[in-house]
Amino acid sequence: QLTEPFFEREKGILIVISGPSCAGKGSVCKIICRKNPDLRLSISETTRQPRNSEKHGREYFYISKESFEERIKKGQYLEYATVYENYYGTPKDYVENLLESGFDVILEIDIQGAAKVRTNYKEGIYIFIVPPSMQELRRRIEERGTESKEQMEMRLNCAYEEMKNADDYSYIVINDDLNDAAQRVQSIITAEKCRTERL
Ligand code: 5GP
Repeated sequence: QLTEPFFEREKGILIVISGPSCAGKGSVCKIICRKNPDLRLSISETTRQPRNSEKHGREYFYISKESFEERIKKGQYLEYATVYENYYGTPKDYVENLLESGFDVILEIDIQGAAKVRTNYKEGIYIFIVPPSMQELRRRIEERGTESKEQMEMRLNCAYEEMKNADDYSYIVINDDLNDAAQRVQSIITAEKCRTERL
């Protein structure tokens, strides 16, 4: 058939983005999604309270601990983890259906979740976003000011530990400037989509 394409990918690609709190993962993902119509950001479920600027169904679906545990039992999460004392989980059907329909999907999840996903999706793209320094991370967390002092310290300590896992990821992107970091993530995705084994 002359009109048949030489190469055609049927399924979407899973892109996993992790990194410490306030590394700028969310902002990078937003920029990337705006630029890529075939890309969808998975919206997680969490038992954490919404921040003032957040909306149910936009940043997260905020659910009770009981509902979350019920959904764990029913096997409705692709992965879930306890992060900073709250549950966070990726809805399984939503992500699998999008991938089946040919959409690429971004998961913005912590390192524990990424490790679980890696066992089932070896062919995924794993990107770790980091702030330029611990000092800058502290400045960003304080500036955001959405956490109590105690929670801020917990997030900073976790960040320090999390950085040690950076080499589990195929790519590390330093977020010194938001647009530059988003451009680097975009380049990674573009290059990965051209890899021979993906076509
Ligand atoms: P935050 O409370 O700042 O929105 O998110 C806290 C941490 O939870 C971040 O590292 C974020 O990437 C992670 N996270 C968000 N959604 C999920 C999820 O569905 N699964 C896992 N494992 N981590 C998540």
